[in-house]
Amino acid sequence: MTLDFLGTLQRTHKCGELRVEQDGQDVVLMGWVNRRRDHGNLIFLDLRDRTGITQVVSDIEIAGPAHAKAEAARSEFVVAVKGRVRKRGEGLENPNMATGQIEVVVKELLLLNEAKTPPFSPSEDAIANEEVRLKYRYLDLRREQMQKNFLLRHNVTRAIREYLSNDGFLEIETPFMTRSTPEGARDYLVPSRVHQGEFYALPQSPQIFKQILMISGFDRYFQVARCFRDEDLRADRQPEFTQIDLEMTFPQQEMVFRTVEGFLGAAFKTAGITLPAGPFLQMSYDDAIRKYGIDKPDMRLPAMVELSDDLDPAQRETLKIEQKLPILGFIIPKAGGLSGTERKKLLSEVRTGFGESGLDLLDTERLKTSEAFAPLATLITQKLEATPEDLIVVVTPKLGTPEMWNYDRQWIYKRVGALRLQLAQKFADKHKLFEQTGTANDFKFLWVTDFPMYEWDEETKTWNAAHHPFTSPHEDDIKSGALFNDKGSVRALAYDVVLNGTELGSGSIRIHRQDVQAEIFRSLGMSDEEAKQRFGFFLEALEYGTPPHGGIALGIDRIAMILAGASSLREVIAFPKTAKAIDLMVDAPSPATEQQMKELHLKIAPRS
Ligand code: ASP
Repeated sequence: MTLDFLGTLQRTHKCGELRVEQDGQDVVLMGWVNRRRDHGNLIFLDLRDRTGITQVVSDIEIAGPAHAKAEAARSEFVVAVKGRVRKRGEGLENPNMATGQIEVVVKELLLLNEAKTPPFSPSEDAIANEEVRLKYRYLDLRREQMQKNFLLRHNVTRAIREYLSNDGFLEIETPFMTRSTPEGARDYLVPSRVHQGEFYALPQSPQIFKQILMISGFDRYFQVARCFRDEDLRADRQPEFTQIDLEMTFPQQEMVFRTVEGFLGAAFKTAGITLPAGPFLQMSYDDAIRKYGIDKPDMRLPAMVELSDDLDPAQRETLKIEQKLPILGFIIPKAGGLSGTERKKLLSEVRTGFGESGLDLLDTERLKTSEAFAPLATLITQKLEATPEDLIVVVTPKLGTPEMWNYDRQWIYKRVGALRLQLAQKFADKHKLFEQTGTANDFKFLWVTDFPMYEWDEETKTWNAAHHPFTSPHEDDIKSGALFNDKGSVRALAYDVVLNGTELGSGSIRIHRQDVQAEIFRSLGMSDEEAKQRFGFFLEALEYGTPPHGGIALGIDRIAMILAGASSLREVIAFPKTAKAIDLMVDAPSPATEQQMKELHLKIAPRS
């Protein structure tokens, strides 16, 4: 096929722009053939670019040579059309298209490039399987939904940049090739050619650098920062992802919160959603666990309710419930009214899920039928504020509890919290609380504060930092000595921002004193030697007049995903990796050449 040259031709309009107002105007459009319908002497080409689609009509009577080209054109060919805008005839308008009132009648058609028959058509709503989409990502990204997602993502990032810039934050870049930053994942390493046997690490976050920028007096920093973490992937994880990362000097927690609320408000506004004025809800970690059984509560669903004091010892005994452990209830709205068989099936499903854990369900429907227990059923219904439409779930510990309950009482709360989420998913069609209606109501934000500083690792019998080790403990817990003699009780000045049960970001007020930082390293089982070797430069920097500082980082990919109503981060990352950390389009990772390996002083060890 002979292709045409572009020459000096320029577009006058984009494919989504023309309206009846342009009726009779001569225009030049360029784009891809979205669809082609051949009626012999009339050929319709739907011409597509980022802005939309215009129907182009080629009439053999009007332009013979152009018509021959329209005959040759196929889906995804790139064409230029010179033609005249014409109002569509009565009844031929398409109200579903922004340009549906008009069409463009071809005078001249240039075939700028041909296209192989694509493995899937970007114009079709039926989506190809994900592997094919990722391999042919350039075609996948042509799809209208993807173009929308990236426009949204761009607008969100831009709004955040603008908000923070106006709020006195400076955008400063920090290096990609650096030393390990401890965020709890494995590092990606880059071997050094010049320094044999040495490696750079890609940053898991700009954490240390942003703290150093505070030491350097920049007062307020932000960055749209790429972070690299080698960890097992899930739908909401990618090996490289983007954070909106910020840090400020002389902060109170609330100052960080107000900043984040401000920029999220601006970001949501660009997506057409006006968040209510005023601060987000705030809850301590302990409360979150007690009421929701998780540190990232989904506030769209009702909380758990502690029913422990509503059953007296005699009732517990009759019902074979452990005397001392908590009894927790919750409702799943509108999921009630189950038939006898359905209820039994559900009860048995949940009981199977409990396995050997020692948890059981209290069947409130059955309680109602017993004279002695009917009042208890009524009391539970009232406490849970359940209507007859709702499903009531009450979880009890059986007599004779497993050992493990003795050391982690929270376990029961967490297990019931997980059941709450699982049943909410199961009955999502009934309660409809997860459906997006396009209003601020769909988005329930929350600050979770006062996380524990340490987590006990039962296997290694050691305390681990629950966050990165630069997080400051509460001043009170340093003063009281708890940091040294009661680690389990130490609270961190750490906070998470949570949206609809997803952790959007986390941050903390940092340690700004060298002595406290050194102590934290020590308390995490790091010898002074090791701390010096890994973080010596940072400990030293802390000694040169470090101001109190703190900050946070939020996942932009996650924000974009939620706003786009997408179910995976891959829908809002242009070139993402699969669950096995492969880029299917460029086929990475890939082996290095012998020459490269030699230069890098590397050898692959045989598989053991
Ligand atoms: N560096 C932390 C993270 O990536 C965020 C922060 O503490 O600011 O999660």
